Amino acid sequence: MIQDVESSPWQRPELWAEMEMSLFTAAGALSMENSSLLSSLTQQIARNYESIDEILTTLCRQSCPSCDDVCCRHATVWYDFRDVLFSCFHKQTIPVRQIHKKENGVCMHLQADGCRLARLERPFICTWYVCPLQKQLLDGGDEKVRVQCADSLDEIKRTRKQLEELFCSFV
Ligand code: SF4
Ligand code: SF4
Repeated sequence: MIQDVESSPWQRPELWAEMEMSLFTAAGALSMENSSLLSSLTQQIARNYESIDEILTTLCRQSCPSCDDVCCRHATVWYDFRDVLFSCFHKQTIPVRQIHKKENGVCMHLQADGCRLARLERPFICTWYVCPLQKQLLDGGDEKVRVQCADSLDEIKRTRKQLEELFCSFV
């Protein structure tokens, strides 16, 4: 998500801890059957992330090192509810805190060689966003790769929505 950091959810550590406790309490009260169903959706999401990781990493190698307007330097991103649900039911854990910007306005996870988080640990928005230069590279490359990328991103988006809807219907 990209918006004013003050309005991003659970920015303060105590709010993050409160959300974590509520989430795990609700998740722990689910029936085994419902819990397994949600876990299987997160595995589906993870498979789709993994299927495009190499494509996206290659695009980054081709474009990011020479980029003069690095998106992670000015974008404001945060974990939304679907991101934390995914982590909770995929790995039975969630990130230690909400993402914030450092004093210089840059995302706390940006390092000299790019994002320090594994793809599955990043907010979905960081994978979903394909910048104009990378879009140009995708459009000019192998059609099958472009379609695979678009289909997997759509599938992740659809399954994340389903995950939230099912979870909310179970609690
Ligand atoms: S994803 Fe695009 S905008 Fe962001 S650093 Fe790479 S080339 Fe630059
Ligand atoms: S989490 Fe990683 S990919 Fe997302 S904005 Fe921060 S540095 Fe960039």
